[in-house]
Amino acid sequence: MINHLAPVQNPTPPSGSPVLVSGASFAGLATAFWLDRLGYQVTIIEVASGLRRGGTPVDIEGETIGILERMGMFDAVRARALPPRAFAFKDADDRSLGGFGVEGSSRARFEIHRDDLLDILFSGIDGSVEVLFGRSIKQLEDGPDGVTVTLDDGTRRTFALVFGCDGNRSNTRKLVFGDEENFTYFMGGYVYLKVVPVTGILPPNVSEVFSVPGRTAILNGYDDRTDIGLAFRTEGEIEYDYRDRAQQRALIRDHFDGLGWKVPTALKHVGTGDDFYFDRINQIRMPSWSKGRVVLVGDAGYCVSPVAGMGGSMAIIGAGRIADALERHGADYAAAFQDYHDKLHAFVEEVQERAANDGMATIFPTDDAEMTERDRKLREGELGL
Ligand SMILES: Cc1cc2nc3c(=O)[nH]c(=O)nc-3n(C[C@H](O)[C@H](O)[C@H](O)COP(=O)(O)OP(=O)(O)OC[C@H]3O[C@@H](n4cnc5c(N)ncnc54)[C@H](O)[C@@H]3O)c2cc1C
Repeated sequence: MINHLAPVQNPTPPSGSPVLVSGASFAGLATAFWLDRLGYQVTIIEVASGLRRGGTPVDIEGETIGILERMGMFDAVRARALPPRAFAFKDADDRSLGGFGVEGSSRARFEIHRDDLLDILFSGIDGSVEVLFGRSIKQLEDGPDGVTVTLDDGTRRTFALVFGCDGNRSNTRKLVFGDEENFTYFMGGYVYLKVVPVTGILPPNVSEVFSVPGRTAILNGYDDRTDIGLAFRTEGEIEYDYRDRAQQRALIRDHFDGLGWKVPTALKHVGTGDDFYFDRINQIRMPSWSKGRVVLVGDAGYCVSPVAGMGGSMAIIGAGRIADALERHGADYAAAFQDYHDKLHAFVEEVQERAANDGMATIFPTDDAEMTERDRKLREGELGL
């Protein structure tokens, strides 16, 4: 159950102003929650016909815990936290090369299924915020009195502020800041993720990783499901049609056919279904996250990549920080947006740097030299995942 916060003592002026949030995932739902508490009149739009479900579990740690406590949601998160998971790197004969047992896992770090966290966050805004599914922003005009937004159904409304929380391929970012390629840092690979019912190929509450240079398979076992992750490295970006799911499945087969360990069984589960996530592994790096009355939160402004294991946390932290900045600066949204960036960007850069260097080399070693170094770190207990 969610304990709602008491209304804030000094609602941020201009209390009651209409504001728009684009995207109803972690960044969007958390941002909408805080804006509602600050007294804004919030509308949230989501391009999908409902909350976009699926995906692998989300890590909750560090500052995210404090923010969820302030939102009155931490007890609900903890109640649905997954049991701690052991983590093992394997060789082709399924021998363990090293890893972590559950005894070393910290209770200051939780994992929760993505859908459970979405439901908890959604219940925090349900009934108090206008939610429009199946809508997207078509046009934005930033003027002296607000941002006039045209939605894809043709409706036009003016908002005091617009929050782009629409993910790695953000529509808001594209409309306001331009071509996404200007802000996309390609990390040198592609990832396929699929959640399937229990496969029996690994015990529950265990993660296993198997790599050969340039290719990695990751399996996460739970009581009720198995995550299959398959990733391959490339020199540069490859051409593919993001709508063509059969082409993406073929790419995975081409890269993983013939590999040993549990890969043949994992490939059987690739099957023919379209219910998987496939994308390049990338980050979003921007010099600023706002322009005029429009500001970006979460992956839209600073995607840290799945390798960082912090995308969900970063979105919730971003939402909490933008709310703090708006509360601090009152009606001066420009100062609030600057403050939000100034106080958060160093942390974002640190997480991105760690993921792009150590994270990639550990989880997706690209050649024999990186494999050897990873194995040395495993033997000597130097890996800090
Ligand atoms: C279905 C799904 C599965 C995922 N699975 C994984 C996973 O397995 N592992 C992993 O590391 N990360 C995964 N992610 C990404 C992860 O959720 C994010 O990295 C992280 O949680 C940051 O959250 P976010 O809210 O900033 O972005 P996201 O979670 O990506 O959410 C963006 C939201 O904006 C919506 N949106 C997109 N375009 C528009 C538009 N034009 N108008 C309105 N709304 C729009 C999307 O539908 C989505 O609901 C997944 C994301 C989604 C949407």
